[in-house]
Amino acid sequence: MHELKKITENIYIFTPGENDRPIFGLIQGDSNSIIIDAGNSTFHTKLFLNSIKDIIINNTYAVLTHWHWDHIFGSSELPFPIISNIHTLRQINLIKNMKWDEKSIISREKNKLEFSFCSINMLREIEVPTSNTVRIPDIIFDESLVINLDNTRKAIMIYVGGDHSPDSTIVHLPSEKIVFLGDCISPAIDMKNIFYTKSRLIPLLSKLISLNADYYYESHSMEPILLSEIIFFKEYVLNLINKHGILYDNLNREHFPDKHQNKFINNILKCWDMFIEYN
Ligand SMILES: [Zn+2]
Repeated sequence: MHELKKITENIYIFTPGENDRPIFGLIQGDSNSIIIDAGNSTFHTKLFLNSIKDIIINNTYAVLTHWHWDHIFGSSELPFPIISNIHTLRQINLIKNMKWDEKSIISREKNKLEFSFCSINMLREIEVPTSNTVRIPDIIFDESLVINLDNTRKAIMIYVGGDHSPDSTIVHLPSEKIVFLGDCISPAIDMKNIFYTKSRLIPLLSKLISLNADYYYESHSMEPILLSEIIFFKEYVLNLINKHGILYDNLNREHFPDKHQNKFINNILKCWDMFIEYN
């Protein structure tokens, strides 16, 4: 069951749920308001809209963190302009021309063109999968975009890329010291391997640390990540690279321990193992 949680005076989170439904974020402002992501189905997005029906929101925009199905398939339900970066727009244009009926999804999975974790959840979630539920974003940016929430507060959309989806955008709220991460901190998923790369992970973690936020909200978790946990993760990965003398860019699961006592690292390892199981 989803729950609308008030996390600050002006920020709400609609918690993640079954079938890989990610969170929605809602950031209220007197001048402009922001919604994070567009839901994984029209049903999911309707549930979210219903949960915020008594909350006053002005001039609302929805921001896409990346193009993956679970963040965009409910977008046709949103009565707001949609913002994305140029890379997300390109990906959405590609997938909008693909077929999302059951037969097409299963056939792509058989041909190793669709990750089975996604196709299983897609088939459970979407009654009539169709690309018509995907909207082309209305406002496009390259590197970053600032929206004034009111006279003193702003939301900064920053293109960060990363291993999980190279088009990833984060949303930084400097006054609240909060960052919405989307899935950018997760590993890359391709049909052969689930991995991080040194060249993408370390700059991404450095960028997140430089924002000096208190709480970082990942799309598929209830609890935020703390700045100290991201700093610890970066140091841990750098030590691992030194220890193993890893020459190539890829950081594979074998480079990491089975478990780690640090809660955040352990969650990453569990998520990594779950993806491997499905691969
Ligand atoms: Zn994703």
